[in-house]
Amino acid sequence: MTEPAALPSSFDVAVVGAGPAGLAAALQIARSGFTTALIAPPTRPDDVRTTALLGGSVPFLKQLGVYEAIEAAGAPLATMRLVDVTRRLVRAPEANFHAREIGLAAFGINIVNRDLTRILDEAIAAEPGITRIAEPVETVAPLADRIDLVTASGATVSARLAIAADGKGSRLRDAAGIDTTTWAHPQSALVLNLAHDVPHHDVSTEFHTPTGPYVLVPLPGNRSSVVLIETPEEAERLRALPDADLGLELERRAHSLLGRMTVEPGRQVWPLSSLIAKCYGRARIALIGETAHTFPPIGAQGLNLTLRDVASLAEIVTEARGRHDDIGGAATLAKYERARRLDVETRTRGVDLANRALLSDLLPVQVARAFGFFLAERIGPLRRLIMREGLTPSLAAPRLMRGLDLPRG
Ligand SMILES: Cc1cc2nc3c(=O)[nH]c(=O)nc-3n(C[C@H](O)[C@H](O)[C@H](O)COP(=O)(O)OP(=O)(O)OC[C@H]3O[C@@H](n4cnc5c(N)ncnc54)[C@H](O)[C@@H]3O)c2cc1C
Repeated sequence: MTEPAALPSSFDVAVVGAGPAGLAAALQIARSGFTTALIAPPTRPDDVRTTALLGGSVPFLKQLGVYEAIEAAGAPLATMRLVDVTRRLVRAPEANFHAREIGLAAFGINIVNRDLTRILDEAIAAEPGITRIAEPVETVAPLADRIDLVTASGATVSARLAIAADGKGSRLRDAAGIDTTTWAHPQSALVLNLAHDVPHHDVSTEFHTPTGPYVLVPLPGNRSSVVLIETPEEAERLRALPDADLGLELERRAHSLLGRMTVEPGRQVWPLSSLIAKCYGRARIALIGETAHTFPPIGAQGLNLTLRDVASLAEIVTEARGRHDDIGGAATLAKYERARRLDVETRTRGVDLANRALLSDLLPVQVARAFGFFLAERIGPLRRLIMREGLTPSLAAPRLMRGLDLPRG
């Protein structure tokens, strides 16, 4: 960490926010040869959520030099199984997606967020191109040739481009005058990790219930992470249960698939909402991660979409530098907007639609949903297409997600 008084005050890029989005962005931008400031309070150490890093995220993280550590701390996902337990008149058939069908040993790795951010934090500490300032940004002033960011201690940091990774309630997004479309869901996610008697065999299982999915995702050993989407009241009731009762309840809901369950310390309830920014870049500020898009944790899409933001933005600013263009200028930001709009819209709306279809009691919706599952289970080429596009959309695969490097400055 750099003390504010000893700060260099001018950088090519300032990344604001040190969740997984900001950490990955600071590392990639610095590796691309830009002088980089990372401004944020220390990363929260208590995040028990896990992230399934899938598809193009794998070559990207390999190229960043952090994948080996991620692989060692996480568990591979070889199969994804979807089971409809809604007890409705029309139920979807079970669908199984095997990574080997598309020539992969695994779709990716599931890792606890605090391990992921620790690994990224360590890589950042070893990266000479990053100055880390452990304070929140309080004031944001976009100017014609630079942006000034004033931190809580009053230090001013100037940059040609600011990357906003300061989460859903982004101060930078507000400073850029970027509006959002937001909507709430009648659900909360209970998140925790647990041990179980029966091995998971690298299979992730998603039970579809009338209140939302209940997902068990492999962790190393006989352990799994749980994301259970429920009504807010039921999620809070479950959170308050004693360990033994909660273990029994989770085992019952999992139909004893993984045997006896023992919950580990640390439970969180996340109210679910969706957000899409109306623009991803303006006034020298580019939005990434939850600053630009938020949606329920269905299909393990959120952080994978974010890493595509990071890879795409790094590619675009590197190209801008190659042409001696302004890396924070309107043309660069407009190019970023064009590169990301379709991917973000389709993922955010797609997850919303999948959630609504599951919650809906309307018979035609149930029939359509069940038919979709039936087709995916029966038709191999369709199933493989769903798997490939679910991992990384072919129309939005930046170079870094295809295992290609970017030129350094
Ligand atoms: C229950 C749940 C399960 C999920 N599971 C998955 C999954 O399996 N796969 C997946 O891909 N995604 C998943 N996601 C989504 C994923 O966890 C999020 O997309 C990701 O954690 C958000 O990261 P972020 O860095 O964009 O934002 P955040 O983690 O919110 O980080 C924001 C950062 O900005 C900082 N900050 C805020 N204000 C300021 C300021 N003024 N100045 C400086 N810094 C500031 C904060 O301190 C923080 O460090 C899940 C989400 C939920 C809710």
